[in-house]
Amino acid sequence: MRGCAIPLLQSGRPGTGRFCSRELICKLMTLRLFNTLSGQVDELAPADGLELRMYACGPTVYDYGHIGNFRTFLQVDVLRRFLGLTGVRVRHVMNITDVDDKIIRNAAAAGIPISEYTAKYVAAFFEDLEALRVERPEQIARATEHINEMVQLIERLAAAKAAYKAEDGSWYFRLKAFPEYGKLSKKDLSGMEDGARVDLDEYEKDSARDFALWKAAKPGETSWETPIGRGRPGWHIECSAMAMGYLGESFDLHAGGEDLMFPHHENEIAQSETATHKPFARHWMHVRFLLVDGKKMSKSEGNFYTLRDLLLKGYKASAIRLALISVPYRHQHNFTFDGLIEATAAVDRLRTFWRRLKDGSFAEGENPDIQTQATKAREEYFAALANDLNTAEARAPIFDLLRASNTAMDEGKFFASDRDAVLQVLGDFDRVFGVIEDQDAELTKLAIAWAEENGRQAEIAPELRARIALSDEEVEALVAERTQAKKMRNFARADAIRAELAEKGVAIEDSKDGVRWKRK
Ligand code: AMP
Ligand code: ZN
Repeated sequence: MRGCAIPLLQSGRPGTGRFCSRELICKLMTLRLFNTLSGQVDELAPADGLELRMYACGPTVYDYGHIGNFRTFLQVDVLRRFLGLTGVRVRHVMNITDVDDKIIRNAAAAGIPISEYTAKYVAAFFEDLEALRVERPEQIARATEHINEMVQLIERLAAAKAAYKAEDGSWYFRLKAFPEYGKLSKKDLSGMEDGARVDLDEYEKDSARDFALWKAAKPGETSWETPIGRGRPGWHIECSAMAMGYLGESFDLHAGGEDLMFPHHENEIAQSETATHKPFARHWMHVRFLLVDGKKMSKSEGNFYTLRDLLLKGYKASAIRLALISVPYRHQHNFTFDGLIEATAAVDRLRTFWRRLKDGSFAEGENPDIQTQATKAREEYFAALANDLNTAEARAPIFDLLRASNTAMDEGKFFASDRDAVLQVLGDFDRVFGVIEDQDAELTKLAIAWAEENGRQAEIAPELRARIALSDEEVEALVAERTQAKKMRNFARADAIRAELAEKGVAIEDSKDGVRWKRK
């Protein structure tokens, strides 16, 4: 069993080197996560006791990702950050699908090679992940760089008589070779027709068909010359080959959005387990959809927003992150602008509180009520996340603690030890939620620069430019100048600075702990 990495809080003095007892807190920290394969909530821990090996399906880079896609990546980020917080080492692999029907079609229409076409969207994808503070997986695997592994897997399936070559040179997986087909999605596939084929990567048929592993080259299409013929891989074989290549034939967890469960993940299992005769992933996590007015947010419905759309409307990256992770992954999330406004206010409260804790001066001592609340908040926070990553329940005790601490500070009943204890709780919170550090103005500036470079100036909300006119350092300098002006009894200058800050979207508040400021 793994050791416990969380320092004990009950003493009220973090950093004293005491660690919580395994029975008590490790129980709180062992993640129990719904497993689509078993149909129940199972404990998730590394099978080898050392490192949790996980694979998450990444994007198809034919366009900018929308925030529905990012909901899935963010929820996987919550998973990996929580594992990290509880001391579990993670080896996380994510693929980039950089060859598929849409990419080939769009690149041909633009008259450029697919690598040139996808480069722009790969770069944009990583910029968006960074803006949303999604931690980088340990390994990024691009499909076009793993063609050999895919071909070898198809050869292995052919040797086992589970793959066959059709008249046109394409290769198909013979579904009848895998009697367990349907075990993940729990679809009843008894009416399955032997030999009926489908070469689309995405299909929603209830009666499954033999699916394409390798698509024979068509004139003018990108293709690779290989021992199984000239062509390109199907989508499903990519993930099987890359997951097993980096993580081994059996690994701990496989994740993706709920739409991938069938046929993509079902096909991955069929290919991999037929080739290896070993269980592929033990645990399957599926993130439910982000909806708009009850419908899946998707490119084809046209009801989608990209991260850049929202930044240019004036929403902050941190608020978008918080909104997208605050509905637990097992629930569908109906996207609304009210939800973003609520998240914006929540981020502001957290940051204002954080600054108050950091900058305030507190007398030595402790308030037993705050100490008790901090311990309770922390336990509830860990317990909620360990309970199938319930982010909504995990947030609640943190905001209760924030409220209680603010009241205690207002009443002069908040002391140095309380500050240490509360900062530690907030640190654990932010290790997963990742919204306290403020990079929003910088990110909005980048989005504006991108819009200007791409002829999308019309999408920039007019009030946005004024709002980001000042950097944090410039605000700090003006705040300091105002404090100095007041000391010198130059109230006219002090008022002028306040007015200038207000015009540029910065509110300042004088308190007995000093001056606080925040962006409106
Ligand atoms: P794609 O780039 O289409 O392959 O999708 C990347 C990831 O986003 C996959 O894991 C999808 O399941 C997921 N995804 C697509 N649409 C949504 C949505 N509306 N809500 C949540 N996840 C989604
Ligand atoms: Zn995949």
